[in-house]
Amino acid sequence: MNKVVKFGGSSLASAEQFKKVGKIITDDKDRHFVVPSAPGKRFSKDKKVTDMLYACYANVSGKGGVEKMDADLADIKARYQEIIDGLALKLSLDDEFKTIRENFIKKAGRDYAASRGEYLNGIIMADYLGYEFIDAAEVIKFTANGDFDSELTNKVLSEKLKTCVNAVIPGFYGSLPDGTIKTFSRGGSDITGSIVARACKADVYENWTDVSGFLIADPRIIENPEVIETITYRELRELSYMGAGVLHEDAIFPVRREGIPINIRNTNSPQDGGTWIVESTCQKSKYTITGVAGRKGFCSINIEKDMMNSEVGFGRKVLQAFEDSGISFEHMPSGIDTMTVFVHQDEFMDKEQQVVSAIHRLADPDTIEIEADLALIAVVGRGMKSTRGTAGRIFSALAHADVNVKMIDQGSSELNIIIGVDNADFEAAIKAIYDIFVVARL
Ligand code: ASP
Repeated sequence: MNKVVKFGGSSLASAEQFKKVGKIITDDKDRHFVVPSAPGKRFSKDKKVTDMLYACYANVSGKGGVEKMDADLADIKARYQEIIDGLALKLSLDDEFKTIRENFIKKAGRDYAASRGEYLNGIIMADYLGYEFIDAAEVIKFTANGDFDSELTNKVLSEKLKTCVNAVIPGFYGSLPDGTIKTFSRGGSDITGSIVARACKADVYENWTDVSGFLIADPRIIENPEVIETITYRELRELSYMGAGVLHEDAIFPVRREGIPINIRNTNSPQDGGTWIVESTCQKSKYTITGVAGRKGFCSINIEKDMMNSEVGFGRKVLQAFEDSGISFEHMPSGIDTMTVFVHQDEFMDKEQQVVSAIHRLADPDTIEIEADLALIAVVGRGMKSTRGTAGRIFSALAHADVNVKMIDQGSSELNIIIGVDNADFEAAIKAIYDIFVVARL
């Protein structure tokens, strides 16, 4: 067995956390490759080292100047020193900090600055475990225009990993062809973990964080929701785009193409099995639904035109109006002579009149009506396909909860049902759906 393990910032925020991580790794000799994040928050008002690095570097060309940069750098060094001391390591980061300071003054870039969080944590982790340290700049490659170079990375990284038994590869960054450091977007260590898992053809990619997996519903709405045991990549996509993210969206792709499962685990509760994210499974989810998630802040544009159904190209013209203004749409339910387009309100607001006039110009509809402050809820579950009456149960639960349903959209995959309600009904709707499927165990 070969397992790649990635640890998030809160799992590595202090020496205490490092000790838990060390135990997790050494408890299972299959855990060969470790991908650490930068130290995160130790308590809720604490600062993440990545944020400290961005702020520190901003002084170089900002008003703080070198003096403030040095003060900030000292605070960052203290965070690492606290970990080194707490682990009783003999390691010194003096030379590393000297180099970082010089590079900051030479304006090595924001990405370089942020990447030092993972880089230094990787050095400490490798020292603590007695594992080899692999600088991600040597093995994670970007193209000259800044896109991740998946094939080159896979080639270089798999060659490198073949030469070592156990290694630490810091997350979040890599390098451009000229050696300049480049990071992924925030939370990007998840992506590095997935890339490493693909390169060494791991049996599993374990992603260790501070929750015991994905929850069936948002804990801010449902008290103590249950954990999802197994979820498919497709279900996760449906849920995570609605804002249920624990894992960086882009972390799915490298492992998905190799059929490597991701196991989300909790560093503070390693006995929990967590959530398995898999390509496909014959395991039924415990309930008919796998999860329910949603988001407020949508707006619907309802377009009517007599005989719309027989007008070839009408839909394309309408969507052209959105495309021309650079607006993506979320959903597009339609009737015989009506078509509704759901968009993010904050994106749409500024361009509203521009889009409306473009629809008039391009598609010549009879009427256009806009409705704001809507929420979309995705009820997702591979189990819905084989269960009769799911939609019926959802809508009777919503009716009992006095929630007016404004829109229903079910794709033919039967993997999800999207429901549009007023923002004000959002929480009540999620509760009603959770209750009917999970609490009532249907
Ligand atoms: N340290 C980076 C961040 O805070 C990347 C990561 O933790 O995944 O975004």
